[in-house]
Amino acid sequence: MLSWDVTPSVSSMQRERAWIEIDLEALAHNVRQIKQMLLPQTALMTVVKADAYGHGAVAIARTVLQQGASWLGVATIPEGIELREAGISAPILLLGATNTAEQVRAIAQWQLQPTICTPKQALIFSESLASESLVSKSLDDTETLSVHLKIDTGMSRLGVPWQEAAEFVQLVERLPYLHIASIYSHLATADSEDLTILRLQHHRFEAAIAQLKAIGISPPRLHLANSAAALVNPNLHYDIVRTGLTTYGLYPAPHLREAIDLRPVMQVKARVTQVKPIQAGTGVSYGYRYIADQDRLMAVVGIGYADGVPRNLSNQMMVLVRGQPVPQIGAITMDQLMLDVSAIPDLQEGEVVTLLGQDGKHQITADDWAEKLNTISWEILCSFKHRLPRVTVGRSLRPIFQKDQRE
Ligand SMILES: *Cc1c(COP(=O)(O)O)cnc(C)c1O
Repeated sequence: MLSWDVTPSVSSMQRERAWIEIDLEALAHNVRQIKQMLLPQTALMTVVKADAYGHGAVAIARTVLQQGASWLGVATIPEGIELREAGISAPILLLGATNTAEQVRAIAQWQLQPTICTPKQALIFSESLASESLVSKSLDDTETLSVHLKIDTGMSRLGVPWQEAAEFVQLVERLPYLHIASIYSHLATADSEDLTILRLQHHRFEAAIAQLKAIGISPPRLHLANSAAALVNPNLHYDIVRTGLTTYGLYPAPHLREAIDLRPVMQVKARVTQVKPIQAGTGVSYGYRYIADQDRLMAVVGIGYADGVPRNLSNQMMVLVRGQPVPQIGAITMDQLMLDVSAIPDLQEGEVVTLLGQDGKHQITADDWAEKLNTISWEILCSFKHRLPRVTVGRSLRPIFQKDQRE
């Protein structure tokens, strides 16, 4: 059974118009499923960048850490600080690049662990730490900052080219104030059915490690796998697996559905604000992109593109009302959208509809939207705005307030 973990007054305010439900039971289930695939010595890093793919980073981080994840991954320094301010002490890897003295200061002060992608960046870190005399103030007993070295094995994004990995690691090893906590790379095509490029990247990663060993550097932690790679082959797991999407209950690709049982964590819901009959020939919403072909019953719902419902889904999406899929009609507007609810003649104002999620036998997922929009589920999840309160349901901890309320 689901139980509301917020006081009734707060709860009713949060669920007044439109909101996102975050199912912490589903999240815990997903983390357990992922953990089950890993060897006991392989650590799980949950990637909580972009506010945990739109789910609310703090509540997600707390739950995954309880369920056995031991690392968190973020993209930016403020994302890391948000977790630290919430009292989270787990190691946090900054997946994005940083390279100014000011950033080094913040990273050291908040005990974040940066990704180092170039020799130049390594020098900036080492020199800034020395000159800022941050060493005594912020760093741990060993007087070093843990850093993670990024090798480009074919993603062609951050990192030194894999052929230069050994030289790069050797250089960083000799710099004061830096401790190499891991060496890692990122895969470009792990969700593809064709494994050619994945195998090539894996091979290059192995070759780089072999080069290191040949010059007497025993590699620290290694990691390579994202969600898809974690499902594809245990040989890609190494010491840490970095999962985002699967944690949130979505499959990186249809052919990976059999590999694991996942439950979507996010549901998007909104209330009906008005119900009214319209006559045949009535145009609905801006531009009259829908004209009733016969007498119909329509409902107005209090959610729109300013909440993150893509306007390009106008006239193209279904919404679940009383467990039944009904068509959205007319242009989606900034704060509201309309439904054809002729199939539910006694629908009442105030009733809750499901835009993403499960209602009765039917489920609408981020994949359904992504397919219509020619994009990927990752983008759908991150596109919901902070105007939508994130409300936790399930076995849980404390309410998540929407960002704007806290600031
Ligand atoms: C975002 C990201 C991940 C997580 O990717 P998913 O496909 O969502 O699991 C892992 N590693 C890096 C470097 C990333 O940027």
